[in-house]
Amino acid sequence: MQVHNFNAGPSMLPNEVLYKASKALIDFDGLGMSILEISHRSEAFLQIMANARSLVRELMQLDDDFEVLFLHGGASTQFMQVPFNLLDEHETAGYIDTGVWASRAIHEAKLFGKVEIVASSADRQYSYIPKSFTIPEGIKYLHITTNNTIYGTQWHQIPEVNVPLVADMSSDIFSRQLDFNRFSLIYAGAQKNMGPAGVTLVVVRKSILGKVSRKIPTILDYLVHIQHESIYNTPPVFAVYISMLTLSWLKEQGGIAAIEKRNEQKAALLYKEIDENPLFRGTAAPEDRSKMNVCFVMNDPSLEKEFLEFCKKEDIVGIKGHRLVGGFRASIYNAMPLESVQYLVESMRYFARKHG
Ligand SMILES: *Cc1c(COP(=O)(O)O)cnc(C)c1O
Repeated sequence: MQVHNFNAGPSMLPNEVLYKASKALIDFDGLGMSILEISHRSEAFLQIMANARSLVRELMQLDDDFEVLFLHGGASTQFMQVPFNLLDEHETAGYIDTGVWASRAIHEAKLFGKVEIVASSADRQYSYIPKSFTIPEGIKYLHITTNNTIYGTQWHQIPEVNVPLVADMSSDIFSRQLDFNRFSLIYAGAQKNMGPAGVTLVVVRKSILGKVSRKIPTILDYLVHIQHESIYNTPPVFAVYISMLTLSWLKEQGGIAAIEKRNEQKAALLYKEIDENPLFRGTAAPEDRSKMNVCFVMNDPSLEKEFLEFCKKEDIVGIKGHRLVGGFRASIYNAMPLESVQYLVESMRYFARKHG
């Protein structure tokens, strides 16, 4: 590892994964061809896709009603594809507005049906997760964003609902144990915690599909992708391959339960420093703090530029906060080793001593 990479997405991947991918780029599996040069209908790629799909099923312990798809277009395409497939024009979907990504999902859903904002944390700059809200009668589904990448908030209690639950898990998929079978549809752009940019995971209950009256363009129809085992057209072959390697790596680490323990350790260490160091303070409501994206500011904002420059010198990369919220954000996804978090904490201490 050359630097301590706290990028929010695309973000760091395990070294072993990058090493294997780099070899496959030149000669995949002794075939004498790059993985970029083989047919997506070849036995070799069919195997990769099948592995990737079954690793998702196994790691998430999904029941048989679920289908696993690797699609194009990023999570942003799912903002549209979800309501296109699930919401008729006269029907209403419930959305919880916890920030920019949730708002974008809401914007797209309104193009296809009615949207009721069930709760929102816009009143305090999305610094918390709404707690008390009632699920309106008769909504088609409820949509939540389980981790709010930009503000560093995360749902620690998944709401109990009696309608299909749809979740954007782009920035915390595979980071913690959840009963994934409580959801009806889960989607995630791969580039935060699962692989490289260019592929999106969709996990969907087959029983909720095929119920809208509108015509769905073939490429946007989940049922078509299910029927073709996620190879309806040319998939993003390399991105699927690297995701498969990352999922295998995760399984070798002991799966979601093991990685969750490590993620908790990393987050606890960093939040402790933010709370104790006189120069820094966290921005998210303490009970809703994300274990993936740790957002903080300096009590004296005039020091922020100097701290950033100091981090740069120390090979700490990617901790500048999102342009909408400023300050700092350290993203500590699955691939981030504890040592890098320790290194950041020590650097914060050193900086505080110099300015104490
Ligand atoms: C990054 C992110 C997105 C956008 O993903 P794209 O793949 O770039 O479309 C959506 N939702 C969340 C929660 C994200 O963190």
